[in-house]
Amino acid sequence: QAKDAGRNTFRFFDPSMNESVAEHLHLAAALRSALGTPQLELHYQPQIELASGRIIGAEALVRWRHPELGPISPAHFIPVAERSGLIHDLGAWVLHQACRDAQHWRTQGFADLSVAVNVSALQFRRDDFEREITQALATSGLPASALEVELTESLLMADAAYITNTLQNLASRGVRIAIDDFGTGYSNLGYLRRFAVHRLKIDQSFVRRMTSDPQDEGLVRAIIEMGRCLNLQLVAEGVEDAPTLTRLRQFGCDAGQGFHWSPALPAPAFLDYLRTHTPSVA
Ligand code: C2E
Ligand code: MG
Ligand code: MG
Ligand code: MG
Repeated sequence: QAKDAGRNTFRFFDPSMNESVAEHLHLAAALRSALGTPQLELHYQPQIELASGRIIGAEALVRWRHPELGPISPAHFIPVAERSGLIHDLGAWVLHQACRDAQHWRTQGFADLSVAVNVSALQFRRDDFEREITQALATSGLPASALEVELTESLLMADAAYITNTLQNLASRGVRIAIDDFGTGYSNLGYLRRFAVHRLKIDQSFVRRMTSDPQDEGLVRAIIEMGRCLNLQLVAEGVEDAPTLTRLRQFGCDAGQGFHWSPALPAPAFLDYLRTHTPSVA
């Protein structure tokens, strides 16, 4: 993990495994007061179409820089936000900010870009989630088709009727649905046929080991083939080097993201990245 953090622009506070209740309350209070301040920022990681090398979109990833503790990993504070109920305000802010930023890039000459937003199961299950999406799209001017919602497999295992309904409504408006960390949840894959899902994001734990472990490579290949049979787009997460990219292309994976191209960048740096990595149409 230390090696991973070193390659990113952020160094994360170590959650040290023995988080006490007091620590949780302390962090939740600190997070509440960070909402609406520059301590919280969205960073954007480019998503690349493998066949063309074109940037097709970005995943929004939230960053929190605590004034004393420094950067805290979302893997650590998102669960805190979920347990304290702050996830609703935090999630709404992420959604609105991501739509605003994406609409800004689109007006800066990158009209095809889409943005992917991670949505916590708690946030998705709230009955005002659809209204929140509507508001974020309306206030930003971002077309629904440029927004992708990333959900985890575990969400799709429960409460099927309500979830099917919400997914159908979102899909009918043009919002795309991606399954994040695909392959890590225990799942009855039947949900892939029942639900309006557009993309599978192959979990980075398989992708990162695929060139050194034939079994991981086999899993990645099988997921790609299954996804293709179901007419889903495949995105590989955690692409860190050229050999991995070559294999993914051979297997017919559609898109990728990872340190091979770029870590998540602050919004202005992401716009610079777009400018320097998009061939100008002369
Ligand atoms: P995720 O959605 O699966 O995001 C991918 C994670 O992998 C990100 O970590 C990203 O920085 C990291 N990553 C990308 N490329 C590479 C690579 O090539 N190598 C390695 N080692 N890592 C790579 P991050 O930003 O720390 O986020 C961790 C998790 O926190 C996310 O996993 C997501 O589940 C959650 N998260 C982040 N932002 C949000 C948010 O706005 N809302 C919610 N609900 N969850 C979020
Ligand atoms: Mg994600
Ligand atoms: Mg993931
Ligand atoms: Mg994840």
